[in-house]
Amino acid sequence: MTFRASVLTLYPEMFPGPLGISLAGRAMQDGLWSLETVQIRDFAADRHRSVDDTPAGGGAGMVLRPDVLAAALDSVAASDPSPRPMLALTPRGRPLTQARVRELAAGEGVILLCGRFEGFDERIFEARPLEPVSVGDYVLSGGELGAMVILDACVRLLPGVMGAASSGEDESFEQVLLEYPHYTRPVTWEGRTIPEVLRSGDHAKIAAWREQRAVEDTRLRRPDLIERHRGASQAPPSGAQRENEGKDT
Ligand code: SAH
Repeated sequence: MTFRASVLTLYPEMFPGPLGISLAGRAMQDGLWSLETVQIRDFAADRHRSVDDTPAGGGAGMVLRPDVLAAALDSVAASDPSPRPMLALTPRGRPLTQARVRELAAGEGVILLCGRFEGFDERIFEARPLEPVSVGDYVLSGGELGAMVILDACVRLLPGVMGAASSGEDESFEQVLLEYPHYTRPVTWEGRTIPEVLRSGDHAKIAAWREQRAVEDTRLRRPDLIERHRGASQAPPSGAQRENEGKDT
């Protein structure tokens, strides 16, 4: 099965960009995933092909028009044999998690809507099943890099993309914790030596040391991950489900 990605953007020339090289690029060449870009401007209805307008209520910048966005989204969705999740890149979205990436990668593909300027007319989120997704608590100038982040994270999980050895469950976020730190040759570098235990050949001891470092480093750098995990048993389901539940009530 080919994982199908469609990216709606005002800058299709940014793609595939980094997704065309290394792991993701090879996977694309191997037909494990495909990438289609859609120029949002092609769906502007007026003579000037305008996609944006000034913000209602005043303020700086321009806002992407809902009618143009809907026409672009509908054109992509219409040719879908079965509906793919539609994600809109926005700092107002739910932060992307490895759990959501796993869900997406297990599906048939994604449709990604990239914003520019001040972002989208809010009504697009009411009128179409769009999941607002953020790639972090900072503001980018456009959604394209965010779309690449999502696709890169998905593609590396597709069956056949990574060697079995590196697809490990040890990796950061897979088991709540950050991954343990890694070392390689030279054994001594600038007076620093690789921790003794990693050179001991004692697999049980190595596993225990790694577990301990994963816990320590997560406590220190990302206490929020541990907190989130503690609350997880009572938490509502993740992803689009939660969004839809919110709308129903
Ligand atoms: N006025 C908006 C920011 C617009 S930035 C606000 O304050 O919320 C322009 C576009 O960049 C957005 O529409 C979005 O598509 C993209 N973008 C910026 N930061 C992002 C982030 N952290 N995650 C995902 N997309 C982001």
